[in-house]
Amino acid sequence: LFVSLEGIDGSGKSTQARRLAEALRAQGRDPVLTREPGGAPGAEDIRRLLVEGDPDRWSPETEILLFTAARRDHLERTIRPALAAGRDVITDRFADSTRVYQGATRGDLRGLVDDVHALVIGIEPDLTLILDMDPEAALTRGLARRSGEDRFEEFGLPFQHKLRDGFRALAEKAPDRCVLIDAGRDADAIAADIAAAVAKHLV
Ligand code: C5P
Repeated sequence: LFVSLEGIDGSGKSTQARRLAEALRAQGRDPVLTREPGGAPGAEDIRRLLVEGDPDRWSPETEILLFTAARRDHLERTIRPALAAGRDVITDRFADSTRVYQGATRGDLRGLVDDVHALVIGIEPDLTLILDMDPEAALTRGLARRSGEDRFEEFGLPFQHKLRDGFRALAEKAPDRCVLIDAGRDADAIAADIAAAVAKHLV
């Protein structure tokens, strides 16, 4: 099973990805827990380029290509080998993050994102869990955990609202793949919903 977790910054994706991996392990499965941008050595190098330094040194179009290059490496080195070995893959972010962050926040670049995706990625998760919550609450959560080295954290509330709307729109567009999870609750309740959504896909 190939599962992605998506959502705005501070929505609890990493915690829930970890908990899902633990839950699958407890069922005797052997999941690979991974993340984007990154998830393979080369892709982690690209991640560093993306999150550090002056964000304006690339155009939005170039940024799409860099995120997609990292994803291609992640796919080749981590995701495909794991799926081929019969393992589950749980990724903290995948292509939907690029559709929303790069595709729908700095002008409408969704066409380019979709074209590049079709050209060099061409795979979707079996299941995408969209952790949906109020950006104000998420921002407080996110800022509390931030180290400060990440240039993206400077994006404020209006940006996070745009992202939330983008993720909700994706969930509506792909209802067979995406499940919207109310992430404004305590971690146990969220984990239970996620476990139920995953269980449906495992039968
Ligand atoms: O999810 P994570 O915190 O690891 O992502 C690192 C940073 O990169 C975040 O601040 C996120 O907003 C940003 N990002 C982005 N575009 C993506 C994926 C992540 O701007 N496609």
